[in-house]
Amino acid sequence: MVTSAVSVDLKTVPIIIGGKPRVSSGKTAVQTNPATGEAVVLIPYCTNEEISAAVEAAQQAFPAWSQTPVLQRARIMFKYRQLVEQHADELIRLCTEENGKTIEESKGSYQRGIECIEFAAGVPSLLMGETVERVSPGVDSASTRQPLGACVGITPFNFPLMVPLWMFPLAIACGNTFVLKPSDRVPRSAVRVAELLYEAGLPAGVMNVVHGAKDAVDALLTDKRVKAVSFVGSSPVAKYIYQTASANGKRVQCLAGAKNHSVVMPDCEMKTTVETIMSSSFGCAGERCVATSVVVAVGEVGDRLVSELIRAGDATKIGPGDRPGCGMGPVITPEARERIVGYIEQGQKEGAKLVRDGRKDTCDAGGYYLGTTIFDNVKPEMRIAREEIFGPVLSVIRARDLNHALEIVNGSEHGNASSIYTKSGATARHFAASTQTGMVGVNLGVPAPVAVFPFSGWKNSFFGDLHALGKDGVRFYTETKVVTSRWPE
Ligand code: NAD
Repeated sequence: MVTSAVSVDLKTVPIIIGGKPRVSSGKTAVQTNPATGEAVVLIPYCTNEEISAAVEAAQQAFPAWSQTPVLQRARIMFKYRQLVEQHADELIRLCTEENGKTIEESKGSYQRGIECIEFAAGVPSLLMGETVERVSPGVDSASTRQPLGACVGITPFNFPLMVPLWMFPLAIACGNTFVLKPSDRVPRSAVRVAELLYEAGLPAGVMNVVHGAKDAVDALLTDKRVKAVSFVGSSPVAKYIYQTASANGKRVQCLAGAKNHSVVMPDCEMKTTVETIMSSSFGCAGERCVATSVVVAVGEVGDRLVSELIRAGDATKIGPGDRPGCGMGPVITPEARERIVGYIEQGQKEGAKLVRDGRKDTCDAGGYYLGTTIFDNVKPEMRIAREEIFGPVLSVIRARDLNHALEIVNGSEHGNASSIYTKSGATARHFAASTQTGMVGVNLGVPAPVAVFPFSGWKNSFFGDLHALGKDGVRFYTETKVVTSRWPE
């Protein structure tokens, strides 16, 4: 909701241009705490001039920063890691306040964010090139990696802290400068981590933060000074950004939406399987791109699995993320809740069996709550089985055998993650080799790789060539140069 009249007492989230926080002169919207519905801050929507000034600051800072010795850039990352750790409690609380996650979930995402800084601090080794001596008499060849220039990051609401950290530490350590446009629903964590980067000694203009929605993004995508765009968000927006940024000559990586399946075999270890699926499907209120949203129950395991899931769903307490004993926080906005409820109604209309209805669960805190919701007897062609719901709704599809399960998994338009639960190594191996997703879990529900590997979604879950993080991330943020030299003997 964009407004200029409401809540004049609320603080406006700053933008950061050229190393300095300032107040945007754009319109503002109220950010509410999803756990309580209370207004917290005003979020600005930057003007075109502000967006352009942020890109200019990044452009101006690039020559000196890219020439800064790589060991010095790495040292800033070491210092940054230390500062982020010193501010852990503040950042974790902020993440919960903005997004609604439980404190434990915010801690987990904070830890994964720290890993990205640690990975970026290894940049001297990551940038090492290759050499081949004597490619012909007196001639040697060597490759190096050089930074691109001003890079842009556009991030989603579901990981206010971690997803920005997937991008800018590595981009900046590689010698680029950066403009971050965080989600307009959760911009405060991004501002805070940028401020800490300056406290670590980053020169002015290397990191910039602007706010806004489509208009701000469009201004960045069409700006000739921007060399590369990293995006994380929903598939339709990812596709649009991929097409627009590529058409404007930019390197682009777009990590997109998901519909992740977990295949449960009759020989699974039932207790840990149920615990793991519950945490994958309902952790972060189902607002996670690696969440299991479809369980494919193979053979006779189905009835027992469904009754165990219902039991665990009944035991999951909803409430504010900082309340002791809270098992699941709210979803992000009232509109998101309404959309998810619409999918529950759709599932009923399509004939799926609603075995646990989270709409009945209530919370006294006043936020945007929905309890764990489970459908059984879902068919692969139903909308609840195909479309990303991004909320606490789990569909169970019954399959005859592993090959039937694989047919269901591979029939999805998305290819982010999939998991299998089994005690058989041969079954797990066959599944890992045959599933058409870029991230695979064996007896685990959130197969998000650590930062040394790429976050490697497939199909409609990714648009681009080089994924975020790992060696892909380094290649994305650098250009390869091959020097061939002749020194006659
Ligand atoms: P979103 O696509 O609505 O927004 C993402 C970003 O794009 C935000 O910064 C937003 O301001 C901007 N944006 C929104 N609409 C736009 C438009 N029309 N044109 C240009 N920019 C626009 O996504 P969200 O709701 O914030 O996040 C949830 C989505 O992100 C889910 O689909 C989830 O699966 C996905 N996600 C994917 C990954 C992954 O690694 N694949 C990780 C996290 C989240």
